[in-house]
Amino acid sequence: MAGAVFYDGESARRRPVSLNVTRCAIDIHEGAEWIASWPSAEVRRRDAPDGVLRLTREGASSLARLDVADADLQAAIRASCTQLEGPDRRERAGRILVWSLAATASILLCVVLLLPILAERLTPLIPVSFERRLGAAVDNQVRTIFTGRVCEDPRGHAALGTLVARLQAAHPGGPTVDVAVLDTRVPNAIALPGGRIYLFRGLLDKAETPDELAGVLAHEMGHAAHRDGLRKMIQAGGTSYLLGLLFGDVTGGGAIVFVGRYLVDSAYSRDTEAAADDFAGRTMGSLGRPAHAMALLLKRIEGKDDGEGGNDSRIPAFLSTHPVTDQRLKALEKQVPSRSGEPLLDQQEWRALKEICKTT
Ligand SMILES: [Zn+2]
Repeated sequence: MAGAVFYDGESARRRPVSLNVTRCAIDIHEGAEWIASWPSAEVRRRDAPDGVLRLTREGASSLARLDVADADLQAAIRASCTQLEGPDRRERAGRILVWSLAATASILLCVVLLLPILAERLTPLIPVSFERRLGAAVDNQVRTIFTGRVCEDPRGHAALGTLVARLQAAHPGGPTVDVAVLDTRVPNAIALPGGRIYLFRGLLDKAETPDELAGVLAHEMGHAAHRDGLRKMIQAGGTSYLLGLLFGDVTGGGAIVFVGRYLVDSAYSRDTEAAADDFAGRTMGSLGRPAHAMALLLKRIEGKDDGEGGNDSRIPAFLSTHPVTDQRLKALEKQVPSRSGEPLLDQQEWRALKEICKTT
């Protein structure tokens, strides 16, 4: 039966052909010569002028097409080629769903399993100068979260400088840190990437001796020395990027908020905490000061922790970001110095430090 034109897709040649339409295929002949056989399931309809049924073969390497003008042939083709409009929509929707679930699952898998490993591997490779830049990028964000001003009473500031210098002297070649007190009731402390440590007034208020406070500062210096903040930030950055892929925000605006929040909110692992405690213990020990003083402070915060955050209850306190276990407390208590060193601050300096947030 004639009534169709075949184009091979390579030349402009118009080849009048006859078609033999069966349930399985369309056989295409030009005169006596067989040209092609298109399986029915692979035949697709394309846009065409009125009255013409234009067909192509799905998955074919060439752009061959078939224009069918004969009404009877068109009817026969419509009857035997059931997927002229493409594969069944339900099947296609199902396939899309399966693929999106697989993509979601693989992104979540990255977040949960691969990012921590990646962060672990990347952290030692990042230059300190770059770490400082990363820290500066989240610094503002963190200060916005805590809505606290930096306390700058000059005498308190000088006392804090003395304390930090003494702690740093215990670790020649250790990380350079820059400690500031934020005027916030929450009892917490946080080490940002790059050496900036924020001590919150809430924690300072609860400390009863310079040793208690020094222990916490040395613990934060341990996080700085181990680059724990940087590791957290890489993990948070990766997470926000991947979640951005999932939910469509890859602009980076949301990322910095997320990273800041994550740095502040998320708890360190038990091993990370133990390592920071160990650093604190060695620091205090080499200064001849007791490390267990810090344990006393932690217990005091633990005992009074409920509701003391006041209107800042959405802000985590020290214990939620630096989880305390009995094991940790016992390990700290065991770190008794072999010799006794002179006090880290005298009475006057300690009083000045306690009042660093008082406005003059
Ligand atoms: Zn910690």
